[in-house]
Amino acid sequence: MRVAIFGAGHVGATATYALMLRALVREIVLIDSNMALARAEAADLSDANALARPAMIWAGDYADAALADIAVITAGAATHGDETRLSVAARSAAIVRACVDGLVGAGFAGIILVAANPVDLMTLAAFRQSGFAAGRVIGTGTLLDSSRLRQVLSQRLLVAPTAVQGAVLGEHGDSEVAAFSTVRIGGMTLDEFTADAAALDESEIADAVRQAGYAIIGGKGYTSFGIATAIVRICEAIIRDEHAVLPVSARLDGQFGIHDLYLSLPCVLGRGGVERILTPDISPAELALLLRSADVLRAAGNALEGG
Ligand code: NAD
Repeated sequence: MRVAIFGAGHVGATATYALMLRALVREIVLIDSNMALARAEAADLSDANALARPAMIWAGDYADAALADIAVITAGAATHGDETRLSVAARSAAIVRACVDGLVGAGFAGIILVAANPVDLMTLAAFRQSGFAAGRVIGTGTLLDSSRLRQVLSQRLLVAPTAVQGAVLGEHGDSEVAAFSTVRIGGMTLDEFTADAAALDESEIADAVRQAGYAIIGGKGYTSFGIATAIVRICEAIIRDEHAVLPVSARLDGQFGIHDLYLSLPCVLGRGGVERILTPDISPAELALLLRSADVLRAAGNALEGG
């Protein structure tokens, strides 16, 4: 088993480290246009080998990536300061398309997992550039936002985050939809679980989840651990053929009436990638917000194609 990580920056290096600690694969190849950086990160990571569960980690090229089961694209233009994910789209798209061209040219036959932002548009760009079946091109989408939602709810409700089910749907970004109607704790809805559900300010929680990335970037300049763990969780579901249900960015083909757009809905993930896209029974208000999120993505995608 081999995973190729494109981009040895904050996200790529942290994802490699998390992948190594999880001991999911024996081989991890790091590819970065800055070869010195890729070599240095590979060497630093390899230093942990004797103390962890050893993996072969090296700085490589497209020929190495061609033999991978999964290619993770973290190479992209990172957001700085007030830049939104959508505002860096054109710069990121050029990088993502170059990575996909290189992969396809080298004969890569695995699954592409895109983390570069704006992730929904970058995954659509990767899908179109690759010519692959849609299920083989996946974006990390709102898995990270959903994890943030579960974490916030777990703190308010005093239960473990793993005990909270629920998803953020739509764009990974400003138009995302915290779907409170999908939240379950031990099979109970929020109203059933707490006598004081009205005290939970859903719009304040949704806002905290939406702003979480910006707040972290304000403090440390980038985000890395949350997204790296999301990347590893998706790789794990694929490699172990789990048929796990995770909210990831997938190409919609009529779900909720949305066509030819990448955005997040709960998906069944296994060895072949996205095996099924689910359409949970969300409230009419959430559906309206989801359709608005799709409109935002379509407009941004059109602007990207046009520009
Ligand atoms: P970074 O600048 O630290 O790393 C990006 C790396 O990509 C750099 O090392 C750069 O040299 C490399 N690169 C650029 N062009 C390349 C190419 N053509 N081939 C190979 N490598 C190339 O940025 P980062 O903080 O690691 O963030 C990377 C991306 O991940 C950004 O787009 C960021 O917005 C995104 N991100 C996504 C999420 C998410 O939830 N999806 C979360 C955090 C960051």
